[in-house]
Amino acid sequence: MIDLHLHLDGSLSKEDFIVLSRKEKIGLGKDFPNNIYVSNDCPSLEVYLERFDLPLKLLQKPENLTFATRSLVLRLAQMGFIYAEIRFAPLLHTREGMSQLKAVQAAIQGLKEGLHMTKGFSANLILCCMRHASEKENLETIEVAKKLRRHHVVAVDLAGAEALHPGTYYKKIYDLARKYRLNITIHSGEATGSEEIIMALDNGAMRIGHGVHLSLDDESIARVKERSVCFEFCPTSNLQTKSLKSYSDVPLRKFLEKGIPVTINSDNMTVSDTDAIRDMKEMVKAFKLTKEEVHHLIETSIKHSFAGFFTKKKLLSRLNSKFDTYYQSVK
Ligand SMILES: [Zn+2]
Repeated sequence: MIDLHLHLDGSLSKEDFIVLSRKEKIGLGKDFPNNIYVSNDCPSLEVYLERFDLPLKLLQKPENLTFATRSLVLRLAQMGFIYAEIRFAPLLHTREGMSQLKAVQAAIQGLKEGLHMTKGFSANLILCCMRHASEKENLETIEVAKKLRRHHVVAVDLAGAEALHPGTYYKKIYDLARKYRLNITIHSGEATGSEEIIMALDNGAMRIGHGVHLSLDDESIARVKERSVCFEFCPTSNLQTKSLKSYSDVPLRKFLEKGIPVTINSDNMTVSDTDAIRDMKEMVKAFKLTKEEVHHLIETSIKHSFAGFFTKKKLLSRLNSKFDTYYQSVK
């Protein structure tokens, strides 16, 4: 009922695709809707990443970003979520001339409209820099995040193919984000090993996207704990991108035993054909999680979210009032 790692472009509903493709006169392909998902038999990371081509084509106008963000907020609220941090890379939405600033303002508009129409649900935005993008574009994303930090933009992220673009090249971007005191989460340790995660910590990451390949030696654990860094696990997505082989390979039990903060998320509701509730269900099944452990995982999501103090307080009380119903849906 909380998703801290959720990409907007990977989470358009089937209906969103239909509405936007009619508006933009862009064909959905003869395989639609099968071409918007992957299954757990997804052959490779390349096939997984191809699934973002079509949504990105459809999200190049401000009104389309507003529509998609509003739709996602409404869906999450309807599914019983109490909070989500929705992320996207504004620099991927400038192909038809929209500025990064305009793209983020459009998403904020959709977020606000959605929140107005729902009750008991809160949400914020995270802006992703991209590993393949130019330094200029990524620095612009940081500037936009700074400008809109009081308008639901709560953090910056670095996403993209980490094996091809290791983190050393991004120092200037993290330096600027730290100078502006922006919250930082970084995708790392999904396709690469522990060194990338440690590098992300050195660059100021407060959360790690995925991070399943953290080596659990004493020194690494001490580094993670010293900064109270939280891990955003996305189990189904990791199986599909071949980062892990099965749900039981997710190092959830090990992280819990070592006292490392960890959360369960979806990554992409449509591309991965999942949601954070279903992923939690898989974790309950694979690790025989107790009711207390499920409660602890969601409480960790609240504590390590980038929401403000009062929102966190409200979320903790919402969690306690809704927890029994939620637990029934995942056990
Ligand atoms: Zn991700």
